[in-house]
Amino acid sequence: MKVLKFGGTSVGSAERIKSVAELIGDGQPKIVVLSAMSGTTNTLVEISDCLYKNDRQKASDIIQNLEQHYFDTISELFETEPFIRKSKEFIETIFTYLRSFVNKDFYPLQEKAVVAQGEIMSTTLMHYYLEERGISNSLISALDFMRIDKDCEPDYFYIRQNLEREMAQSGIQPLVITQGFICRNAYGEIDNLTRGGSDYSAALIGAALKAEEIQIWTDIDGIHNNDPRIVEHTQAIRQLSFDEAEELAYFGAKILHPSSIQPAKKERIPVRLKNTLHPQDEGTLITEKSPVKNIKAVAAKDGITAINIKSTNMLLAYGFLRKVFEVFEAWKTPIDMIATSEVAVSLTIDNTAHLEDIIKDLEKFGTIEVDKDLSIICIVGAFDAHKSGLGAQVLNALEEIPLRMISYGGSEHNISMLVNTADKNRALIALSSHLLS
Ligand code: ASP
Ligand code: MG
Repeated sequence: MKVLKFGGTSVGSAERIKSVAELIGDGQPKIVVLSAMSGTTNTLVEISDCLYKNDRQKASDIIQNLEQHYFDTISELFETEPFIRKSKEFIETIFTYLRSFVNKDFYPLQEKAVVAQGEIMSTTLMHYYLEERGISNSLISALDFMRIDKDCEPDYFYIRQNLEREMAQSGIQPLVITQGFICRNAYGEIDNLTRGGSDYSAALIGAALKAEEIQIWTDIDGIHNNDPRIVEHTQAIRQLSFDEAEELAYFGAKILHPSSIQPAKKERIPVRLKNTLHPQDEGTLITEKSPVKNIKAVAAKDGITAINIKSTNMLLAYGFLRKVFEVFEAWKTPIDMIATSEVAVSLTIDNTAHLEDIIKDLEKFGTIEVDKDLSIICIVGAFDAHKSGLGAQVLNALEEIPLRMISYGGSEHNISMLVNTADKNRALIALSSHLLS
């Protein structure tokens, strides 16, 4: 059994839904996880924003336009009257539900229910379309098996048990369709796995069922060795290890949700990134081990803030770093990079929601300086502790770029550099021209 996930652009129009149906309707057993049609989740978030602000007219107008978009898609997608009628009736129920929020007070919990409708619509339309084409399939609701616990972590036990039950109840269909992104929380309320979370859904489903492979279908031919929006002539990487893919996804390769590697890695299930526009392309294969020599890929993450703590108390003291880390723990703020000297420590964060509180707490320990608008450049390659030269090549390539921080040796497959965001493009181009061509 394979799990195949198709992203928003892959199901973004009637024509694209038809091509996906073509791909998945080959009779091989599989579970298909779908995102919402591209643009829908953003629109649902926009509707929610209007409702928070009490801008009811604007919310109604956006709802109206979105509904029309779905009616147009239905007219293009289906050929027979019963399916056109059935689909329209279904879309009408969804929009009646959305309209029911317009004249009420609006809460975050309701926003979760509103944004969930995108995946509910895309999967139902796919289910009906396959039926119209005579391809037998069943639709199961992610709300009946996907669940996060009180810490917003997936509840593996619940997911496995409930998914197995749902699969058994759906009969022995070779093709099962379900929603990505949406889930229930520990209290049984509708929730989600955060934006872009459909990849994560696919990985969790794959891990729960010990699938043979998890395929993530987008419209690029895999993870590229540099950011194709910034650097010309980037190339798709054919093979990556779970560790390498995790670093690249976390540090900026937009193609994959960073959490989605973990479940696959845990169960050792290969993840393959495929392109719906070129289904024959091999894409990128992510497995436990992958060949690596020199530099394999670079990726960058913006919006980084560095915090520097200078203190003479740190000199020859133990327990100092623990106190510093406890501040970040208390404010639930993950740290990405760290550099230390004997009298100072610099660390980076990307979530600045509690920056003011963190600074206030850190001031007890020393002098604090904060730098904003920074980017982390992650370089994945063979940084084997017993080999020389590669680190020097990276530094040489970045000769012209001011470096704010360097992290080397945390793992053998990656080094990270902190630069001003204003210098990021130059840095990425220099790394490609010196090391990747
Ligand atoms: N539809 C959701 C989003 O746009 C989830 C996803 O596409 O992965 O964030
Ligand atoms: Mg995505």
